[in-house]
Amino acid sequence: MKVLFAVSEMFPFVKTGGLGDVAGALPVALQNLGVDVRVLIPAYSEVLDKVVDLAPWVSLGDPLGAGEIRVALGRVPGSGVPVWLVGSPALYERKTGPYLGPDGKDWPDNHVRFAALSRAAAIICDAGTVLGWQADILHSHDWQGGLGPAYLALRGGRRPGTVHTIHNMAFAGIFPATELGAVGLPLEAFSINGVEYHEKLSFLKAGIRYADRLTTVSPTHAREIMSKEFGFGFEGVLASREGHLKGILNGIDGDIWNPRTDALIEQTYDARNLGKKALNKAALQKTFGLPINPKAPLFGVVSRFTIQKGIDLVLETLPRIIEQGGQLAVLGSGDAELEDKLTKAAKDFPAHVAVRVGYDEPLSHLVQAGCDGFLVPSRFEPCGLTQMYALRYGTPPIVRRTGGLADSVIDVSNVADGTGFVFEAAKGTELNRAVTNAIKLYRRPGEWRALQRRAMKQDFSWEKSARDYISVYSELTDSAPIRARGRRTKR
Ligand code: ADP
Repeated sequence: MKVLFAVSEMFPFVKTGGLGDVAGALPVALQNLGVDVRVLIPAYSEVLDKVVDLAPWVSLGDPLGAGEIRVALGRVPGSGVPVWLVGSPALYERKTGPYLGPDGKDWPDNHVRFAALSRAAAIICDAGTVLGWQADILHSHDWQGGLGPAYLALRGGRRPGTVHTIHNMAFAGIFPATELGAVGLPLEAFSINGVEYHEKLSFLKAGIRYADRLTTVSPTHAREIMSKEFGFGFEGVLASREGHLKGILNGIDGDIWNPRTDALIEQTYDARNLGKKALNKAALQKTFGLPINPKAPLFGVVSRFTIQKGIDLVLETLPRIIEQGGQLAVLGSGDAELEDKLTKAAKDFPAHVAVRVGYDEPLSHLVQAGCDGFLVPSRFEPCGLTQMYALRYGTPPIVRRTGGLADSVIDVSNVADGTGFVFEAAKGTELNRAVTNAIKLYRRPGEWRALQRRAMKQDFSWEKSARDYISVYSELTDSAPIRARGRRTKR
């Protein structure tokens, strides 16, 4: 089976969040199960710097009138996964990460930049034989990949099956309706049954509406997004596609996130020698400028600073952590107001709170390894990876019962086989209670150690998820080799 991924970020090239981790790890897991996966990604400067074995460029013409688009096959360093780079220096070689300009705002031509990615995907699906590789499935991701299924379905005729994965509904790729032509969509697509969303154009809606199958990144979130609370206005169209929507929990890359072998932490350890974790705690306290105190319960956060992630709730729970002699180490960036409030708290309570503003992959490993508990109090969380990393590192997570958090953490207060602390409502009082329970248990070392060991035993390997994706692909390849205008027809 041949699968073409179309995605806007991929570890280790560029990563701004979980999407990058998934695009880095899922293809490897699929390959291990015999799937021939290639990943199509924009040739950002960071990608061009790191790609290996790059073959000559092949022109795809100028399909959007925004300049010539070229593709070249290369490989990911390390994993060796084949990648097709979409080359357009004017669109992608900007050296400021995949989405934002130097002013921290979305690039004004993001619709063209990611339409070009999807257009290249559709052309490769058409021109497979020219490039010597014919996809059976186009698997697109998030709004940036949403137009791929639309281009193929609207063109009609023979085409690969299409699967679109929603990693975060909060980003819907919304642009003025006047840009329809610039992204190469026909007028007929601009309707309630097409790409229209409140009189604008939504790339995410294109994916939802035109892909043969939809997935999101946890079973709970698949149910949630059909409700008003979590659907961002797409709940109706999603509910209409319920029979073709599946939640598949993300895995984690067990080679990169493994406390037994992790070269980015102070001291490696595993479930049998958890005592060594203390060296990471001391190193983390030192790095963050917190008092080196092995007894203080140390909580960690690695996150985008947004309301989605409940960073405001973390601020609300600070007094509780401080009054109980605890510490908080925060790594992240984002919303300026949340950033300011966290920085101010660190200034006011230097013995208890420390914040590192920025994106720091190595430091994120040390936070996972060095903390006692890990906070993920998200308002909504399609899957969430940091709580899974925390479990693997024996750092019990404290999470809200939503999306993938609900599907990956078992509440220890209700059941003996619990792996962390789960609270219900997105309220400071509820997080306070969970943090207090965590500190209470932390002060009973035998029980805490047992909790850590149970957490570390959880299996979040990608293999199971990859098998689930293969079963979705198979629904399309086994019975419907030809599809016309999004409907199945027999050969
Ligand atoms: P989301 O994709 O919504 O941001 P996830 O939990 O799915 O959330 O994935 C976030 C990923 O980004 C994790 O790998 C996490 O470790 C990483 N990450 C987030 N913020 C930072 C940061 N400031 N520095 C390093 N890694 C970060």
